[in-house]
Amino acid sequence: MAEDATQAPGTLDCLACGACCHGDEGWVPVNREDDARVASTPALARHVVLLRRGEYAKRSLRMVDGACSALARDGGPTRCTIYEDRPSLCRALEVGSPGCLSARRAHGL
Ligand code: SF4
Ligand code: SF4
Repeated sequence: MAEDATQAPGTLDCLACGACCHGDEGWVPVNREDDARVASTPALARHVVLLRRGEYAKRSLRMVDGACSALARDGGPTRCTIYEDRPSLCRALEVGSPGCLSARRAHGL
């Protein structure tokens, strides 16, 4: 099958996408490796919530109407408002990776 040039990593712009930023509560975990970034970045820290399940608790980014609260959805292209400070899980998803392309397909991109 011919490669779709419009989905090549170099052509994809996360700041005009946001497809991978949608999910249920707990979709974007905040891990220990994010501690320093959370502590030094109020813009990130204000999106962090603690989810409790019985005795178990974990940090994640707040979800609002099925999307990360840091995702701007103001009529223009959806975009991460804390892109430079986004947590490690967001950084781990490579542009053009199978997970990225799958998320984009799910959002008709
Ligand atoms: S990683 Fe992929 S799905 Fe996520 S915002 Fe970037 S281009 Fe979109
Ligand atoms: S922090 Fe940014 S990149 Fe990560 S899920 Fe939220 S809006 Fe998307």
